Amino acid sequence: MNILQNITVLGSTGSIGVSTLDVIRRHPERYRVFALCAHSQLEKLFEQCCEFRPRFAVLRDAPLASLLAERCRAAGLDTEVRHGIEALIELSSLPEVDAVMAAIVGAAGLEPTLAAARAGKKIMLANKEVLVMAGELFMRAVRESGASLLPVDSEHNAIFQALPTDFARGLTACGVRRILLTASGGPFRNTPLADLQGVTPEAACAHPNWVMGRKISVDSATMMNKGLEVIEAHWLFAAPPERIQVVVHPQSVIHSAVDYADGSVLAQLGNPDMRTPIAYALAYPERIEAGVEPLDLFKIGRLEFFDPDFERFRCLQLAYDVLHQGGTAPAILNAANEVAVAAFLDRQLPFLGIARLNEEVLSKVQAGPEGSLADVLAADAEARQVASRLIKECRFA
Ligand code: NAD
Ligand code: MG
Repeated sequence: MNILQNITVLGSTGSIGVSTLDVIRRHPERYRVFALCAHSQLEKLFEQCCEFRPRFAVLRDAPLASLLAERCRAAGLDTEVRHGIEALIELSSLPEVDAVMAAIVGAAGLEPTLAAARAGKKIMLANKEVLVMAGELFMRAVRESGASLLPVDSEHNAIFQALPTDFARGLTACGVRRILLTASGGPFRNTPLADLQGVTPEAACAHPNWVMGRKISVDSATMMNKGLEVIEAHWLFAAPPERIQVVVHPQSVIHSAVDYADGSVLAQLGNPDMRTPIAYALAYPERIEAGVEPLDLFKIGRLEFFDPDFERFRCLQLAYDVLHQGGTAPAILNAANEVAVAAFLDRQLPFLGIARLNEEVLSKVQAGPEGSLADVLAADAEARQVASRLIKECRFA
């Protein structure tokens, strides 16, 4: 298949967005950038517009969008600049769009990604919060529209590669015993517990193996990220929580594995570089060059594996708890966590306060059924409100 595909990149200025554009840049005969969408990084988005000449560019607010439009006009580009959530939804579902890279961070990506699912697009999903918040709704939309869903999160991409192509028949029918979801353990895997309280945002964002956006970096440090990924795996692969085993693997070379009934374990290995799963999702079922260094097993030398410490990484336990609870409970945890991480990055909350705040919000906000998008958004809003209030009251200082 070599027809040119039109791609909308949601979150083009972020870590995943930039890596996506790097893979696209290597294959101009395959991919054309249709729309580039970002929050407020005007300068970076303008540079991307100059290089990729998209039909559309989107920023969140009108004043910044006007500035970008002016810059584009002055540079002789015919890129049309839009703003706001409506534009994101439209540019994820227009008939000309073949594929959408969902790489906005957090709940802000939910509606456009859901729109892409409803419109039957090929969705390359990095924005795991979509599945955490509205897994049932999103997977239903994918099934009903016939959209194709390709996981970009490295672990889920690895699992997807290690599963048979007809895994939708059900894991048991496919002879799958367990999913082995690997985790690096983040920068504080061995930090004495007593030292965790005073951890700074800079230290939390210094991930040993991956360079990522700030929110996911903090999530990796608390292992909330792995918790969100357990929920993500549950929805993507229809896997019950007890079949998803988290394995701490500090080298981040095995990106995850599938354990089969006959004793076979199939894993996907590679250097920790997101361009591998991005290229896989872009070209599926083909394989294309991604600019990633070949894996040198001799240089790596050894691979280690440990049990996760659920006491130290309380957020991981909370994720299993909300998954068992179901309904809007995962959306509540996700919202609390987004507020907690933002407050931590803003030095309003200590590192250990993130898990405590998440737990407190879960105990205060009543979860209900995940009936509609409105239910999910209401749970999200209430959890944010409660979390912000608790922070203001300095309950976790
Ligand atoms: P990032 O912070 O580097 O980038 C986020 C992008 O989203 C930016 O382009 C930003 O402008 C855009 N954005 C944020 N809020 C927006 C809004 N309201 N409207 C429009 N655009 C908005 O984040 P990232 O590390 O690239 O992560 C993106 C997503 O991918 C997250 O959900 C993360 O969990 C997931 N992910 C990232 C990695 C990684 O290696 N970075 C790996 C796996 C999964
Ligand atoms: Mg991951």
